[in-house]
Amino acid sequence: MMEKLLNTLKIDALVVGGGIAGMQSALDLADQGYQVAMVEKEASIGGKMIALSKVFPTLDCCSCITTPKMSAVAHHENIHLFTYCEVQEVEENGYGFKTTVLQKPRYLDADACTGCRMCEYACPIDLRNPFDLNMGATRAVRVPFSTAVPQIAVMDMENCILCGKCEKACPVGCIDFSQQPKLFTLQTDTVILATGFETTPRNAKKEYGAGKSHNVIDGLMMERLLAPTGPYGRILRPGDGKEPDSIAYVQCAGSRDQTLGVEYCSRVCCMYAIKQAMLISGSLPLADITIYYMDIRAFGKGYEQFFQTAKAMGVEFVRGKVAQITQDEHQNPVVKLEAIDNGAKIVDRTHDMVVLSVGMLPSYDTVPVYLIPAGDDGFIYVPEPNSAPCVTDREGIFVTGAAAGPMDIVDSIVMAGAAAMESAAYMAEKREQAEVSERAEEPEMEVAHV
Ligand SMILES: Cc1cc2nc3c(=O)[nH]c(=O)nc-3n(C[C@H](O)[C@H](O)[C@H](O)COP(=O)(O)OP(=O)(O)OC[C@H]3O[C@@H](n4cnc5c(N)ncnc54)[C@H](O)[C@@H]3O)c2cc1C
Repeated sequence: MMEKLLNTLKIDALVVGGGIAGMQSALDLADQGYQVAMVEKEASIGGKMIALSKVFPTLDCCSCITTPKMSAVAHHENIHLFTYCEVQEVEENGYGFKTTVLQKPRYLDADACTGCRMCEYACPIDLRNPFDLNMGATRAVRVPFSTAVPQIAVMDMENCILCGKCEKACPVGCIDFSQQPKLFTLQTDTVILATGFETTPRNAKKEYGAGKSHNVIDGLMMERLLAPTGPYGRILRPGDGKEPDSIAYVQCAGSRDQTLGVEYCSRVCCMYAIKQAMLISGSLPLADITIYYMDIRAFGKGYEQFFQTAKAMGVEFVRGKVAQITQDEHQNPVVKLEAIDNGAKIVDRTHDMVVLSVGMLPSYDTVPVYLIPAGDDGFIYVPEPNSAPCVTDREGIFVTGAAAGPMDIVDSIVMAGAAAMESAAYMAEKREQAEVSERAEEPEMEVAHV
């Protein structure tokens, strides 16, 4: 049962998605005095970036960059944060955009929850942790991760056995098993879409054996293994907990591949594979690291030097196309490859672990939810990508970050600033026009002559 529409909130701008791009756009607008609503479908903001270990090419800690931004968003007096909420519909209604939002139930009173985690400690249900991409464990009721913003628990009702232990443990009595989804509406002048990306599913390419072999993982899983807050605290292969001595990367394992319908280059995979290879060299100095690639795309500032440093550190780069990954009797992945620099010879190489450099797919729910279409590649359609990369074909709706196409963090932040600027300019122009027409409607004052 759905509760009736709650009252409508009148706000200047709506930002959909609380990843790095959405957060930056919201902060840039809020700092200029605009009232901003941020709607995020997950229980915490932070997007993909909060789950990463370090960033290329500086190797700065991801959490150290993302957490202060998450906190700034949550504490900004001009930002209204709505987490665990999904946009149902955006309508144009003459005043701007009316957006219907679904608030999913956390099964607790979010205003009362202090994030103390007593419910989590009391919960008897152990589950695979979605934040660690199912490699670690968590509980049916939990704060999503240690630096989550907001620090409010959420209950996974599908796995809850209604034992009531969390209810007894909660010091503020905020557990509410009867909570229902709620709808509310937002009236805004502009909308910024910052819905980001998903990665190509690990088992998308049958020939690569992922899904069957636990020791064939993807780039995001390796990010969690490398993160200080990761599932095991060090790099272990998920299949049997063994410390790997030999790790291979398979590039373009989800991009530039017509069989998957993903013809474009995902732009970040070469660089994140090189970054992870360097970080693994630091954690496991004796391990052999190989990157199987077609060509290396190191396009950004400092990226080519980063690639050269990895080579100097002993990371092996082998040019070739991986045809198949199978598994031997010890759960070791066996890579069959056409080695381009070796007379196109077909070779088999065995590793302890393989990381698929999966690509970026759009996570944009297309029309009619947001009124604007997706382009041929599935990312949000931008009519003038060279001259106005944030401007969609619907006046007043802008796009930023990986919602517009594959891009790294630097580009996402730059584009977020541009989207905020475009929407501020749009609002200023709209208000000026409204003032002019208001003045035109006012009766002319008679001037008295003395
Ligand atoms: C393995 C890997 C490693 C990487 N390493 C690096 C690196 O070292 N350096 C670098 O520069 N880049 C790196 N990247 C790229 C980086 O992750 C992206 O550039 C960045 O996350 C893009 O940010 P975003 O905010 O556009 O998207 P996202 O991070 O995807 O955020 C989008 C947000 O929108 C939310 N959302 C989606 N749909 C909706 C909806 N309908 N309603 C409400 N909310 C919604 C999502 O839940 C999410 O919180 C890496 C990528 C991968 C896959």
